[in-house]
Amino acid sequence: MVFEKFTFFSDRHPGIIKVVKLLFPGSHHAYCLRHLVDNFVKQVLRSYPLHNKKYWSSVFKKAAYAPSQQEFTRHINNILESMPRASTFITSSDPQSWANALFPGRRWGVINNNIVECWNNWVKPARHLPIVSMVDHVRVQIMNMMHRRRETTSVMVQELSPKKENALATTYIESRNLSINKSCGWKFEVVDGDKSFAVDLNEWTCSCKSWQINMLPCKHACAAIKSKSMSLYAFCDRYFHIEMYRQAYKEMINLIPTFDMYETNNDEGSVINAPDIRS
Ligand SMILES: [Zn+2]
Repeated sequence: MVFEKFTFFSDRHPGIIKVVKLLFPGSHHAYCLRHLVDNFVKQVLRSYPLHNKKYWSSVFKKAAYAPSQQEFTRHINNILESMPRASTFITSSDPQSWANALFPGRRWGVINNNIVECWNNWVKPARHLPIVSMVDHVRVQIMNMMHRRRETTSVMVQELSPKKENALATTYIESRNLSINKSCGWKFEVVDGDKSFAVDLNEWTCSCKSWQINMLPCKHACAAIKSKSMSLYAFCDRYFHIEMYRQAYKEMINLIPTFDMYETNNDEGSVINAPDIRS
C-alpha cells in the first residue's frame, strides 16, 4: 500500500520511531519540544546543579525555534560551552527531528504535542468508566464537537481557519511600514529596520525562513504580495483555508442510543463481553 507523506508528532518513544519508519517510509517524524526540554532538564541540567534551569531551558528552546542553521549552532555552542556533557544528549536526540533549521519536512509551525495533552485532559472524565461506557462517552463528546464545529464553519465567510485568519491579519499590520525594492517580477528585497530580507513569491520563500516554517506569509512576504496588489490568501498553505477546516468536520458521527443494551445470544460462551469495571 502506498501512503501519502505525513508528518508525525510524538514524544520520541522508541516504539513509535520504529513503527513510523517501517509503515510510513518517506514520511517525517517530529519530536515534541516540550518533552525534549523535560528530558534535557532531567538528563543534562540536573548534572549541573548550579546552573539556572529556566535560563538554559530557554536557550535550548531558542535553538529549536531558530530559523537558520547558523542561529541554531550559536545557541547549541552556547549550551556546550557551559555544559560539555550535553553533547551526547543533543547528538542522540536527532536535532533534525526537532530543530526548525534542520527539519526536512513540513510541520506548519507546530513544535509541541500540546493537542495530545488537550485530548488527554478532554477525555479525563471518561477514564474511570467501564470500557464500553468509556468509548461511548468519548464518542458522544466527539459527536457534539464535530456538530458544533460543522455548524460554526457553515456560516463562516472568511478565507482561512479562525486562528490563521487572526495570525495573518496581525502579520499584515506589521508589514505595512516595511519598504520594498523590486529585483524582478517575483523577487523582492524587503527592508525591515537595519536588515534586508529576500522574498521570492514564486518559491514561497523569505530569507527570514518564517514563511517556509509556518506555511503562512511572514511580514516581509505580506509586504511583497501587497506591492503586487495580490491577495495574501493565495500565498497561504491550502491546509489553512476554510474549505479544509470544513472538510475536517464534515463527517457525521452517528447516534448509538442502545450502546449499553447487549444482544442476547443463546450460544453462551462464544461471546466475550467487555469487563464491567476497569482494573
Ligand atoms: Zn520574512
